[in-house]
Amino acid sequence: MTVWICKTCGAQHTPSQTPPAHCAICEDERQYVGAAGQLWLDRDAITASHANDWREIEPGLSGIGVVPTIAIGQRALLVQTPEGNVLWDCVPMLDAATMDRIKALGGLKAMCFSHPHFYTGMVEWSEALGGVPIRLPEVDLAHVMRPSPLITPWSGDRLDILPGVTVHRVGGHFEGSSVLEWAAGADGKGALLVGDTIQVTPAAGWVSFMRSYPNMIPLPARDVQTIADRVAELSFDRLYGGWWDKVIASDAKTAIARSAERYIAALA
Ligand SMILES: [Zn+2]
Repeated sequence: MTVWICKTCGAQHTPSQTPPAHCAICEDERQYVGAAGQLWLDRDAITASHANDWREIEPGLSGIGVVPTIAIGQRALLVQTPEGNVLWDCVPMLDAATMDRIKALGGLKAMCFSHPHFYTGMVEWSEALGGVPIRLPEVDLAHVMRPSPLITPWSGDRLDILPGVTVHRVGGHFEGSSVLEWAAGADGKGALLVGDTIQVTPAAGWVSFMRSYPNMIPLPARDVQTIADRVAELSFDRLYGGWWDKVIASDAKTAIARSAERYIAALA
């Protein structure tokens, strides 16, 4: 049996002898099947030709990507706290060095996510690290491509993971799209980990919000306002998006508020 990884989105699928016929993640209007059709990668082959890239970002926060880049190219974030570690988002593969390094840090208490495009290798990671609880919003369970008994759904709008680590479901891109509020981040001013629930844009100090980024489908004003209102209640100064360079180092709350205002004005 082979673990097949969708080449376009990076989602691992339920192991099978031959590649699956479809990737439901990519057939959804928020992703895409490219002109060459549905393509697959073999997890074992990828593990031989690729590695995880680990970068310490600030005290208590590391990023873990894949090199060379595959699929959407995001990096996961490892949040370390005195009560244990949490993985925010995931990448399509886990190498032995990274597994050992996480174990040496005490392992993971939980894995949680911004949205289904970053579920990717979550079951492989959880199993390799001893059965880490995979916490997914129940409203997005239909987007799981590799079901596992390690997946523990949660409902509502708030999930307290550990002291100082809280996931808030704000919706938008997906119904379960979430952000992680990390109290100790940014020297205690707080950091918000967002994936692409909120997308950092090239102009310094601005963000955007979309139903589909590759297909450029916007969100309705009410959804953008909901995201802006929800995060305005949280404590943070810094924002980490889903990629290495998608960071707003300070005053991120102001950036979100003015970006939401601009977006809603453009829709009107
Ligand atoms: Zn896919």
